[in-house]
Amino acid sequence: MNVLTEHETKKILSRYGIPVTKENIAESEDEALAIAMHIGAPVVMKISSPDISHKSDVGGVVLNVGIADVRTTYNNIILRIRKVVPDARIEGVLVQQMAPSGHEIIVGLKEDAQFGHALMFGLGGIFVEVYKDVSFRVTPIDKKEALRMISEIKGYPILRGIRGKKPADIDAISDVLVKVSDLAEKENIIELDINPLIVNESGAVAVDARAMLG
Ligand code: ADP
Ligand code: MG
Repeated sequence: MNVLTEHETKKILSRYGIPVTKENIAESEDEALAIAMHIGAPVVMKISSPDISHKSDVGGVVLNVGIADVRTTYNNIILRIRKVVPDARIEGVLVQQMAPSGHEIIVGLKEDAQFGHALMFGLGGIFVEVYKDVSFRVTPIDKKEALRMISEIKGYPILRGIRGKKPADIDAISDVLVKVSDLAEKENIIELDINPLIVNESGAVAVDARAMLG
């Protein structure tokens, strides 16, 4: 069993055409600055460690970092993690593109002994955690089925845009679901989570992901 980091998981997603944030791992404050300049500020900075899968729980995620703050943020993250999780192996700090705001969506995949793989879709945050408002399909699925999967959650009207919130690009979400389904058929995936996929009116991007390979 092999647990991949966010950056490693996104490399797999990318191979299947799933949009991911532009990003790279910095091993020094100089590298962090160079990557941030290349991507364009503001950036998001996250601890990269094979031993830490819930990064914000340990203070390992800083959003909206301007160029002037990249060096200090790099050092602060490393110092904080050394203190909070002293045994964690630290690969560096992942410096990534800040996604435009939008709806936060969760896409999950789980190997099932009986059915192959179960694909899960839901809205992020309280919708999944409190209301368990999710839909499931056994893979593989096509685009039509993906669209059905999206429309059957209770929160679907939210994605269509209500109360001043703009509609989500449903077509982009269904593309991601089909591509994750494709990935499930070809890779040895025990578990995969995109949490969240950020979706606005014109596209979707995976900003966090984690996988367990067999
Ligand atoms: P965790 O390992 O704690 O799940 P995430 O990488 O998901 O950490 O980051 C925590 C939250 O920060 C996300 O749920 C999302 O709301 C926000 N976030 C993370 N990365 C980005 C990004 N690149 N652009 C915009 N928001 C982001
Ligand atoms: Mg996350």
